Amino acid sequence: MKIIPLSEGAFTIDQTKVFVPFDIAKDKLQERPRGSLLVEIQPFLVVTQNDVILLDTGLGFMSNGVMQLHENLALYGFSTNDITKVLMSHLHRDHSGGLTLEDPYHHTWHLGFSNATVYVHHKELDFALYTQNASYDSERLKILAHNDKVVLLNDEGIIDGYIHHQFSGGHSPFHQVFWIHEDKKIVFFGGDEAPQLHQMKTKFVTKYDHDGKRAMELRQQWWNQANNQNWRILFYHDIGTPIG
Ligand SMILES: [Zn+2]
Repeated sequence: MKIIPLSEGAFTIDQTKVFVPFDIAKDKLQERPRGSLLVEIQPFLVVTQNDVILLDTGLGFMSNGVMQLHENLALYGFSTNDITKVLMSHLHRDHSGGLTLEDPYHHTWHLGFSNATVYVHHKELDFALYTQNASYDSERLKILAHNDKVVLLNDEGIIDGYIHHQFSGGHSPFHQVFWIHEDKKIVFFGGDEAPQLHQMKTKFVTKYDHDGKRAMELRQQWWNQANNQNWRILFYHDIGTPIG
């Protein structure tokens, strides 16, 4: 199993929920609005015996007319057509932006990975499409409904005998997490409920979680299990430690 972080870079985010690029070498956090959070935005590619799996899809950040995510894939010798599965923890903008692409002539959206099956919790999709919430871009996500490339997941199950998915519901009401098992190795992707290494080690409730207490308790539980069972954890928002 090979794990490749596909960072779109560092960004700050404040109450406006807009992600602003942040150059760690040049920019100063004090110069961003008060309460700004500094985060990496980092989808992961996991190459297994049978699949090329993308875990969350980033902001869909564009640089010079090209999607950063596509450039990152190309850097490692992959094209969008190589992806066989896309596993979505949840559908907030910074996780689902790279999932869709806009047709510049017709201004319609389509899936960005033509050969991939997309896995999303069925209630997360409903929530993203039918509630007014600034964290979701429902216009872009509409194409996920009634789409034969999209598998709508229930609360818990196993995909193809080796990917375990489970409802977690701490960060967004219908957030889910994944374990990938191969060759006695366990890779854990906790999305925004295990976003950074330091959050796993410290006990605190965040303001931006839907159910902060639940998210905190899940982090503690996973951190203990991870240490006992030697998991590798993929940190989507960590500046500096993508894999722990
Ligand atoms: Zn989120």
